[in-house]
Order: sequence, then structure tokens, then C-alpha cells
Amino acid sequence: MERVYIGMGSNLADPEDQLRSAVQALAQLPDSRFVGVSGFYQSDSLLPGQPRYTNAVAAIDSTLPPLDLLDALQAIELDQGRERHERWGPRTLDLDILLFGDRLIDEPRLQVPHYHMHARPFVLYPLAELAPASLKLADGRSLSQLLADCPFIGLERITA
Ligand code: ATP
Ligand code: MG
Ligand code: MG
Repeated sequence: MERVYIGMGSNLADPEDQLRSAVQALAQLPDSRFVGVSGFYQSDSLLPGQPRYTNAVAAIDSTLPPLDLLDALQAIELDQGRERHERWGPRTLDLDILLFGDRLIDEPRLQVPHYHMHARPFVLYPLAELAPASLKLADGRSLSQLLADCPFIGLERITA
């Protein structure tokens, strides 16, 4: 089993409900055990003119090969009405593999650690609820170091 952290985001069609449904779906993944989910956080879209985002991070333990997990996550996205138009467009559900054990993956369909997680407060703060602060990311920096460089600005934790 390897510990996998999954970033979840939604800004369409009742985002909190989308994330709750995604958690249910993650709990059904084959060859995997659901570990937990962070609180939910809201923030303004990085791109103007989009509704606010709700984000969270989930953890699972899995023996699935990474590309099989990506297939399963994309199937959940589609099941919850994800449509891909422009890059970074509004979406009912985005499920990104942030970390997969301590693997470095660089394939056309999958790069892990996720390229943009280092600078995204809506990823790092929920991740910190589940992962140890000493967790090392790809470039050798720990989660606590990344958090120190990523102020809690514009984020609102909306669940208890
Ligand atoms: P961002 O990557 O900046 O968060 P996004 O999540 O909106 O953007 P998507 O449209 O969801 O991007 O995904 C585009 C492609 O990214 C997917 O088809 C997938 O093959 C690829 N991808 C590469 N690495 C990952 C990863 N770690 N997790 C999920 N998808 C990934
Ligand atoms: Mg994403
Ligand atoms: Mg994505």
C-alpha cells in the first residue's frame, strides 16, 4: 500500500456537494483504502470571472498502478459532469494526484508530484491537515517549508 494524496476542487453545481460525492466515490475505489479528508476551503478563482472554488484534500492507501488510479479519478470526474473546454475553466469536479508515496512520475498523462501544488494555498493547507509537516516533496523541501512560503491569504475554511 502506498499513501496517495488527492486534491479536489469544484466551482460549479453545488461545490460542497460535489466534494462530498467525490469522497463517497473515493471510498469505493478498488484495491484501495480510504484514509481521510481535510476540511473544505473556499477561495476566489485564480482566473477572473469564475465562481469561487471549494477545495479539499483526501488521502487513500492504494495498490493501484498510478495510471489506473488516474483513469479511475477521471471516470469519477466525468460521472460528476466534468466537461473540459478551456484549460483551467470552471468545473464540477477536479481530482488531481498530488503525491503517490514517494514516487516521481513523469509520463505524458501524469506528473507526480503535481506540478502546481507547491504554490497553491488551497492545496497545501488542506494537505497539512492529513500529512506530517516533515513530509518531503519532490524538490526535497518539506511541507512545513512550503507552507512557510505560502501565506494563508484569501482562503476560508468552511467546515468545522
Ligand atoms: P492543473 O493541473 O493546473 O490543476 P487541471 O487540474 O484543471 O489543471 P485537468 O484538465 O484536470 O487540469 O487535467 C489535464 C490533464 O492533466 C489530465 O488529462 C491528466 O492527464 C494530466 N495530469 C498530469 N498530471 C496529473 C496529476 N498529477 N493528476 C491529475 N492529472 C494529471
Ligand atoms: Mg487541478
Ligand atoms: Mg485536474
